[in-house]
Amino acid sequence: MTTNLSRRAWLQRSAMAAAVLPISRWYLPDGNGYTQQLPDLTGKIRLNSNENPYGPSENAKKAMMDSMAEANRYPRDFITKLKEEIATREALTPEHVLIAAGSTELLGLAGLTFGLGGGELAACHPTFDFMMVFAERLGCTWARTPLDKKFQYDLHALDKIIGPKTKLIFVCNPNNPTGIEIPYPRLKSFCGAHGTKYPLFVDEAYIELSNGGRKGSMAGLIEQQPKLIIGRTFSKVHGLAGMRIGYALAQPDMIKAMSNLQSTRGMSVSALAASAALASLKDPAFEDYCRGRILEGRKMVNDTFDQWGVEYLESSTNFVFFKNEKFATDPVEAMAKENILIRSYDYVPGWSRVSIGTVEEMEMFLTAAKKYVVS
Ligand code: PMP
Repeated sequence: MTTNLSRRAWLQRSAMAAAVLPISRWYLPDGNGYTQQLPDLTGKIRLNSNENPYGPSENAKKAMMDSMAEANRYPRDFITKLKEEIATREALTPEHVLIAAGSTELLGLAGLTFGLGGGELAACHPTFDFMMVFAERLGCTWARTPLDKKFQYDLHALDKIIGPKTKLIFVCNPNNPTGIEIPYPRLKSFCGAHGTKYPLFVDEAYIELSNGGRKGSMAGLIEQQPKLIIGRTFSKVHGLAGMRIGYALAQPDMIKAMSNLQSTRGMSVSALAASAALASLKDPAFEDYCRGRILEGRKMVNDTFDQWGVEYLESSTNFVFFKNEKFATDPVEAMAKENILIRSYDYVPGWSRVSIGTVEEMEMFLTAAKKYVVS
């Protein structure tokens, strides 16, 4: 499971890369999607979208091949089996599960379901803003509060902006783009305080990579918290970003309210996506492998940044958010010259984000980055 791109080929390509697009111009912030003019990604090391370079698992690939024979049928059975498996794993029922085309669709559905009549969505900023940006288009207002001084999702400040106008609360744990995880007891008590009164969406896209893994999930609170919604995705540790599949967990009436607005009537995902997700869920060895390698790559970045004196945030995800200060050139622009794609956010000036690719890709990133670090 190594990258196809050898170090030599990469060095040659980097040296030849005379004209590269300024990446930050064509790749807009999460939630706004891509512009029409996509660059040629051939030979580029893609560390800008928090994908899993080790996926899909061999079992998932086989399941996709096998399910191709069923492509003439609607995917109901595949989706039903996947729901059943997820429900069993979470000690819930299939009625507690909603399958969608990635957690992006779930975020949109929650925004639509609870934000349709206007009002406020409460969330910290910066975070993964898809739901808020979408709901704003429906006439909602994003009541936002900054992260705290340590870049932690500030639940205390969030508490204060929740009120009569609140239609939906969004918490991202671990958060994107900072990678920081909320301490379990703190988030649990926040869910306890609000999950009976307000729809409360906890986005757990990276939960498998957090310190406690899935044990740190809020899913166990669903029975006590009737308005709590958990969002999960197969795009990260399962390495299925291209298949577009994710799921929500919530009490059946919440699931029903959201699925009523799903224009595909519960069939957003293909048989291929559902069967790949099912096979991946049943393959804990693959998940352990990915987690191990991703954490290894993350540690390499952290250790090297420590040596260089580059300030970064302690990540519980497959990306590292770091300060540009020690770099002679903007790291996104510098890495683009080296054929390596990383990204930044114009609303967090002075910081960049690098996704964790294969260990070999991270070596290449660090070798290239070193050229721009001022000692
Ligand atoms: N939530 C968070 C926090 C994310 O970072 C992402 C993807 N970057 C998503 C949701 C969307 O994931 P997907 O639609 O691929 O499931």
